Amino acid sequence: MADLEIQRDVPLAPLTTLELGGPARFFARVVGTDTLVEALRWGRERGVPVAVLGGGSNLIVPDEGYEGLVVHIAIGDIAFHADGRVEVGAGVPWEVVVGGAVTRGWAGLECLTGIPGSTGATPIQNVGAYGQDVSEVIESVVAIRRDTLELEELTPTACDFGYRDSMFKRHPDRYIVSGVRFALRPDGPGTVRHAELEERVVPGASLSEIRNAILDLRRKKSMVIDPDDPNRCSAGSFFLNPVVSSAEADRVAAFAVSEGLAPDLGAVPRYPTPSGKVKLAAGWLVEKSGIAKGTRRGAVGVSSNHALALVHHGGGTTTELLAFADEVRSRVEDRFGIRLQREPRAPRR
Ligand SMILES: Cc1cc2nc3c(=O)[nH]c(=O)nc-3n(C[C@H](O)[C@H](O)[C@H](O)COP(=O)(O)OP(=O)(O)OC[C@H]3O[C@@H](n4cnc5c(N)ncnc54)[C@H](O)[C@@H]3O)c2cc1C
Repeated sequence: MADLEIQRDVPLAPLTTLELGGPARFFARVVGTDTLVEALRWGRERGVPVAVLGGGSNLIVPDEGYEGLVVHIAIGDIAFHADGRVEVGAGVPWEVVVGGAVTRGWAGLECLTGIPGSTGATPIQNVGAYGQDVSEVIESVVAIRRDTLELEELTPTACDFGYRDSMFKRHPDRYIVSGVRFALRPDGPGTVRHAELEERVVPGASLSEIRNAILDLRRKKSMVIDPDDPNRCSAGSFFLNPVVSSAEADRVAAFAVSEGLAPDLGAVPRYPTPSGKVKLAAGWLVEKSGIAKGTRRGAVGVSSNHALALVHHGGGTTTELLAFADEVRSRVEDRFGIRLQREPRAPRR
């Protein structure tokens, strides 16, 4: 019998990197899949909705809290197999997996260093950074189906990964991830396909050199969790980079040049994607809309090191943060006709 302990009125703010939001009416920390199933059954029998919390680094908790059961995933097993496969429980801190892979000389995760949170959350928005997406090395995702309470192993095709997107993110009512299986490349070369990284490492750089260069870059942008950083309370990038048609990207670039926001078309960041569409840089759009790094509205604002990170300076509310996010979104839309989409989500209702 699983050992399920339900707590009441547990503050969620300290469990999130934004340090915002109210309490969970019910709360359970689960260390195994059997306890996770018990928690889901507990909620179902009482008609109580169940939301999932990992490391709280991509979550916006409303000020009124969550009127349901928050399940904090702490499933902590990890096994590195000699052939490069790695089986990881959903609650294992992500950096433990990246560090373990890099130390062994196994390629595939080195660019994803410094991303806070748990392993189980990485497939949800298909985390990515510096030219790598986690979906490139996911062999399968092990998850509990919320309706049947059965464990299933899902192929990457079933996960339907996209840019910061997956079936899990689109349908949070379907599955809770209990573990992830990765297929890494023992002795494989590291990935150096991002311009900022190419400037910092030599061709053939080791995985450790790549990892260190990225951690250095991320620190400068306040994109690692550092208790001494005044920008430390964030959810990382608050908005997704918009993916638009090439005609739309050309329109934005021509407009920026005509308004004197860029010296020439080449100065407007635009990245072709495999689908033929073009990714624009949301941070660039924010800055060129007149919202500078370091802008503040009371207790919230934009990071002084990263135009795309909204930060909480302490003593604020989620309502203030979301009002500021709306202001940023309106400014970009008014100026460029591009509507930014939010990256972090509220807990599922
Ligand atoms: C400083 C900083 C830098 C960041 N940099 C990056 C970056 O470079 N690239 C990037 O992609 N992201 C980045 N992020 C965002 C975030 O770290 C990732 O999305 C991370 O994977 C979230 O993990 P978590 O455990 O904290 O998830 P949480 O915030 O706890 O949850 C996020 C969402 O996933 C759901 N979820 C969590 N675990 C599970 C599970 N086991 N099963 C089902 N649903 C689950 C939650 O319900 C919620 O909807 C950054 C965040 C911060 C604060």
